Amino acid sequence: MTTPLENTDPEIFGVIRREVERQNTTIQLIASENFTSQAVMEAQGTVLTNKYSEGYPGKRYYGGNLVVDEAENLARSRACALFGAEHANVQPHSGANANAAVFFALLEPGDKVMGMRLDQGGHLTHGSPVNFSGKNYNFASYGVNEQTEQLDYDQIRDLAKQTQPRLIIAGATAYPRAIDFEAFRSIADDAGALLMVDAAHIAGLIAGGAHKSPLPMADIMTFTTHKTLRGPRAGCILAKQEFAAAIDKAVFPGFQGGPLMHVIAAKAVAFHEAAQPSFRTYAANVVANAAALAAALASHGLRIVSGGTDNHLLLVDLRSFQITGKVAQEVLDRAGITTNKNAIPNDPEKPFVTSGLRLGTASMTTAGMGPDEMVQIAEMIAAALRGANDIAVLDAVRAQANDLCSKFTPYPALASK
Ligand SMILES: *Cc1c(COP(=O)(O)O)cnc(C)c1O
Repeated sequence: MTTPLENTDPEIFGVIRREVERQNTTIQLIASENFTSQAVMEAQGTVLTNKYSEGYPGKRYYGGNLVVDEAENLARSRACALFGAEHANVQPHSGANANAAVFFALLEPGDKVMGMRLDQGGHLTHGSPVNFSGKNYNFASYGVNEQTEQLDYDQIRDLAKQTQPRLIIAGATAYPRAIDFEAFRSIADDAGALLMVDAAHIAGLIAGGAHKSPLPMADIMTFTTHKTLRGPRAGCILAKQEFAAAIDKAVFPGFQGGPLMHVIAAKAVAFHEAAQPSFRTYAANVVANAAALAAALASHGLRIVSGGTDNHLLLVDLRSFQITGKVAQEVLDRAGITTNKNAIPNDPEKPFVTSGLRLGTASMTTAGMGPDEMVQIAEMIAAALRGANDIAVLDAVRAQANDLCSKFTPYPALASK
């Protein structure tokens, strides 16, 4: 029996089938990715995509919203309950949109803001000169300590005293250690600044109790719902009540048009899943797997930036293997292991080359892997990097990757027969 998509558009149908196969048969170590549940995908692939719902529940611009209002209310109340927040806006289409809306709500163009340097783990939206954030606001950037490769809260405090920013952003996209939100709160208070935590990467760990929560320290917390939280691709904003009205106004009508009700429904499902006891086990396993992967890679002679990891990701310094991040990523792709090249602190290579890899365990933990499999994956990575120029070695690792994934398949029900 053919499906409606297969009938209408065999090309896209084929793309999706091949992508299912890629996800089912190769090892996924991109730290910002996960395998969302079929329940989440089912909610997303529904007629809720047809509804125009500009505004908020009970205050929409068009008729016919009584039903979808319930979905958004569920998403909002579940987000608040999950994180212990006073207010949630579940409409941001993505993490970048969530951050943009917060800046729009709290800042004037040209205002001073502090964020983490992009080349030391920060996100584009935290003041990169090529991003709207860097173009519209006056960013001062903090980095990691040269020796420890960890955030240096004394340095951050000094910079905040000097710059007197209106907003301080805590949070990162490639930082393997726990973030001390109490320290950030005290730094913000000292400088008379607001504190926004961008928990895009660690939201699932926070929800699952595997990372300290930024609430109630943060005035605002933004996050993505698709990384460790394992929901649909989207963003969300949590706020103290005093900022609720400004945040809502900034998201709509300030920044976005109609919300994606099918994605909001899928976010509600993800929040529900993340509130289950099994998600606490999941979050703990993600962190344990990252620690196991880091230790196993170190035993093969790879240096782990900052000496280890407290969360779901690790940064590997490849210089002892005389290979760049760019080449390592290509070689591992060839060997059935998906990773991304990433700058390490004070990287001597250009951003498109880099000396590092960023690896995360959220996806493979969802697929059911544990520390034993992390040891195997580390062996495969070391073998592939050592045999970077030897197709036979890469083919052998690829076969091992396929074999491992046949025991830990994220979407067995979607595999084509
Ligand atoms: C991933 C990420 C974002 C952006 O999320 P998108 O959904 O890709 O826009 C924002 N901030 C941080 C810290 C991130 O890691």
